[in-house]
Amino acid sequence: MVDEQKVSRIVKDVLSKMDLSAINKPTRKQLGVFDTMEEALAAVNKAYVQFRKYNKAQREAIISEIRKLTHAEAETMAKLAVEDTGMGNVYHKILKHHLVADKTLGTEDLDTRAFSGDGGLTLVEMGPYGIIGAITPSTNPSCTIICNSICMLAGGNGIIFNPHPHAKRISAYTVDLVNRAVQAAGGPENIVATVANPTMETSNMMVNHPSVKMLVATGGPGVVKMLLSSGKKAIGAGAGNPPVIVDETADIKKAAKDIVDGCTFDNNLPCIAEKEVFAISAIADELIHYMLQNGCYMLSDPQVKQLEDVVLVTKKNKAGKEVRVINKDWVGRDAKKILAQIGVQASDDIRCIICETDFSQAFVQTELMMPILPIVRVETFDEAVEMAVKAEHGNRHSAHLHSKNVDHMTQYAKAIETTIFVKNAPSYAGIGFNAEGWTTFTIAGPTGEGITSPRSFTRLRRCVLSDALYII
Ligand code: NAD
Repeated sequence: MVDEQKVSRIVKDVLSKMDLSAINKPTRKQLGVFDTMEEALAAVNKAYVQFRKYNKAQREAIISEIRKLTHAEAETMAKLAVEDTGMGNVYHKILKHHLVADKTLGTEDLDTRAFSGDGGLTLVEMGPYGIIGAITPSTNPSCTIICNSICMLAGGNGIIFNPHPHAKRISAYTVDLVNRAVQAAGGPENIVATVANPTMETSNMMVNHPSVKMLVATGGPGVVKMLLSSGKKAIGAGAGNPPVIVDETADIKKAAKDIVDGCTFDNNLPCIAEKEVFAISAIADELIHYMLQNGCYMLSDPQVKQLEDVVLVTKKNKAGKEVRVINKDWVGRDAKKILAQIGVQASDDIRCIICETDFSQAFVQTELMMPILPIVRVETFDEAVEMAVKAEHGNRHSAHLHSKNVDHMTQYAKAIETTIFVKNAPSYAGIGFNAEGWTTFTIAGPTGEGITSPRSFTRLRRCVLSDALYII
C-alpha cells in the first residue's frame, strides 16, 4: 500500500519548488480563450463546420492527445487549481487528473443498434448534438473541463464553456491545454472555447444562443434549475449530501479508514464524498476509536457550536426567511486551518474533524464540502436508513454503506435511490478510483444520465433502408 502521508510530503516539496509565474502571466494568447462570449461562439461555430467531417479515428486521435497532455501537466493543473480557487489538496488533485485522463470513456462508448429483416435494414446511431454549452464548478474545475471535453468531442460535438468565475484562471489554462491537444492531432482551432472572464451575463448569452443545442450544468442547485428551465435539452449534474451508514457486521477498522480517506479526499470537495455518518450504537465507539487513529480530531459539544459560527453564515432566502448556509470561505480548506479558527492548534496529521451530533444538527443537514464529519448514533438499521434518506434531501446523488449484510445493502439501495451507491470502500470508488468502471466528473442525477460518458452527449438517429441489405 502507498503511504499517503509520505507521498503527500514529497509532492508538497516538489510543488513548492514549481514556478507558476509563466502561467499566471501568459506570454502568448491562450488557445480557445476569448474576451467576449460572441467571439467564443463565433469561433466554435466556425470550428464545428470542419469538425463535423471528422471520423471516429480522428476524434480518437484528439482524445489520445488530451489524455497525454493531462498526464504530463497534472501537477501544474493541480497546483494552479488550488492557487486559483483557494480550495482542495494538491496531491489529491494530481490523482484526480490522472484518473480523468485514464478512465474517461472515448469513442468506444458509442455504438449502433441494427435491425434487419424482411423489411430491410434499420440502424440507430449516436450522432452529435452540435455545439454544447457547459457550465463548470469551482470545486473540480480542470477535471470537469477535461472530462466533458473528452466525452463531448468523442460524441462529435463542439463545446463552449462558461466556467465558475472563481476558477477562471485554471479553467482558461485547461481550455488552452485541450486546444493544444486538438492542434497536436491536427484538429480544428477553437473546437473548445471559453471566455477569459465568465459572468452570469456570459452564461445567459451562451444559454440563449441559437447555435447552442444542448446545455450541461455541473454545479449546485441554482445553476441546474436555471439550465433545466432554459427550454433546451439540458443535462443537470447537481448537489448531493452523501450519507454513510456503518452497521454491526462491517469490518469496523477498515470502515473507519475508508470513510476518513473518502471524506478527506481533496478536502471533501467531491460531490460524492462522505458528508455524514449514521453508526449503529453497538459499534459506534469502536468506529470513532479507529477514526481517531486515522487523523481525526473529535470536537466537544461547545466546540461544535463554535465551529458552526465559523463555517455557516445566516442569510435571507428568496422568501425573506433567515437560513443558515455554508460560509464559502471555508469550503475545501484543510482541517488544520479550520480548527485554528476555534483556537485548536492541530498537528499536521489531522486531516478530518469529527463530532457526535443529533440528526437535526446543521453539519448533518448541510452539504459543507469541508473535511468535517458529523456522526449520529442510531439503534437499528431501519432507523439509520430512514435518517440517511432524509439527510440526502432527495438529491438521489450518492450514498455509502459499510456492511457485510446483503439484505441491508438491498434495503438501503432501494430506499435511497441514489445514482452512486458504494459498499465497503471510500466514496471515490464510485467514480472508478481504485475500483472498476469508468470515471466522470459530471454525475447527472436530476436528469438521469448518471455517470455521464460520450453517449450522454449524443442524439439517437434512425436510418432506414427499405427492402434491401437483408442479406440472408
Ligand atoms: P455553483 O453552483 O456555485 O456554481 C456552478 C457554476 O454555475 C458556476 O459557473 C457559477 O458561476 C454558475 N452559476 C451558479 N448559479 C447560477 C445561475 N443562477 N445562473 C447561471 N450560472 C450560475 O457550484 P460550485 O460551488 O462551483 O460547485 C459546488 C456544487 O456543485 C456542489 O453543490 C456540488 O455538489 C455540485 N457538484 C456536482 C457535481 C456532479 O457531478 N453532480 C460535480 C461537481 C460539483
